[in-house]
Amino acid sequence: MTSVLHRSLKATYPRAASGHGIHIRDTQGRDYIDASGGAAVSCLGHMHPDVLSAMRKQLEQLEYAHTGFFTTEVAEQLGDDLVAHAPEGMSHVYFVSGGSEAIEAALKMARQYFVEIGQPQRARFIARKQSYHGNTLGALAVGGNEWRRAQFEPLLVKTHHVSPPYAYRDRRADESDAEYGERLAQELEAMIAELGPETIIGFIAETVGGATAGALTAPEGYYRRVREICDRHGILLILDEVMCGMGRTGTLHACEQEGVTPDLMTIAKGMGGGYAPIGGVLVHEKIIDAFASGSGLFQHGHTYLGHPVACAASLAVQQVIRRDNLLENVRKQGTYLTQRLEARFGNHPHVGDIRGRGLFQAIELVADRSSKETFDPARKVHAQIKQEAMARGLICYPMGGTIDGIHGDHVLLAPPFIVTEADIDAIVERLGDAVDAVV
Ligand code: PLP
Repeated sequence: MTSVLHRSLKATYPRAASGHGIHIRDTQGRDYIDASGGAAVSCLGHMHPDVLSAMRKQLEQLEYAHTGFFTTEVAEQLGDDLVAHAPEGMSHVYFVSGGSEAIEAALKMARQYFVEIGQPQRARFIARKQSYHGNTLGALAVGGNEWRRAQFEPLLVKTHHVSPPYAYRDRRADESDAEYGERLAQELEAMIAELGPETIIGFIAETVGGATAGALTAPEGYYRRVREICDRHGILLILDEVMCGMGRTGTLHACEQEGVTPDLMTIAKGMGGGYAPIGGVLVHEKIIDAFASGSGLFQHGHTYLGHPVACAASLAVQQVIRRDNLLENVRKQGTYLTQRLEARFGNHPHVGDIRGRGLFQAIELVADRSSKETFDPARKVHAQIKQEAMARGLICYPMGGTIDGIHGDHVLLAPPFIVTEADIDAIVERLGDAVDAVV
């Protein structure tokens, strides 16, 4: 019996008791390789001594001070650190406690920006199908996952969705990557024209799609066209890097590889590496300028924003990533992970696609490789793989859902940045066995 309302009332969960490096051990003594960092959270693995000691040090000085009264040394240091490594022009960071809160703050900041500059008629967001931005009402409203939205639909602000980059299913056989990206950009522009550019606040997208269909990267040039379209119509570009950001794809921010700077960027998960709940919104100076010369405040706030212990954890995570050159390891091991996945699943009859970037990669499962037909959703292939993987001591992140009539089963891998080739061999071997046990 449990008094805790778990995510599922039907499932029983092993009790995680301890962690070390990329491993978690449960109270039964079973060991699991954490190959998805939970949900792309643990970027340094578990119980990293440098992060623990930074948190301990902060706790011995001050555990909490409300940001309505004080700032703290550690929040200022983390802010400076994040801004120093942010894309040029992003001059401030707003701290929150996680990804959904970051999205709520970004959506409100975007709306307030237009109120400040005298365009209050802008009241709509365009987002993408096959996307996930969090589970709070604002984040659900912009997210494109129908299953997650369905029963809450009456509570959600109307949002308009365009197609995400999803080459495996959507790119036409006669289309080049560049043509495909252009077609997606034109769909966005057509939506803007239909709604009226002067009514739109922003376009929000995960730079690399994560929790809905697994590691969906965009065709080269797509984001530069999106940036140009947004600029032409005075629309803000909001990039959600809660899952794909903070080093996971091999650069600190995934948008660096796309050659664009957003107006607002949400970060979380790897920002604190799981050591404390923390997220943030990186804000372009043009928005800060509008606030500064207007009302002078961002009308928002939560009790725990800028929590000193969470800031200490996040600052230590950033420092370790740089000191230990971990982004280089993300790129190196990312290449190795692709090779191993190709070797194990490249000819697998039920793996249709292998995709992703850095240590953010996924496989898509199909009933039939040549027709790309998906498995019957009732089989819940992804959920079965999760169970089989856990039985083999592997934590991976399987997803399934029906979006615009297409069902999909995917498994996302997002191992910690400290992973070695031997770790990757073990991860791919266990995943292969789990997949073969199900399909
Ligand atoms: N945005 C993206 C892209 C995510 O993947 C997630 C969580 O998976 C969120 C937002 C929400 O973050 P959180 O679960 O920390 O609220």
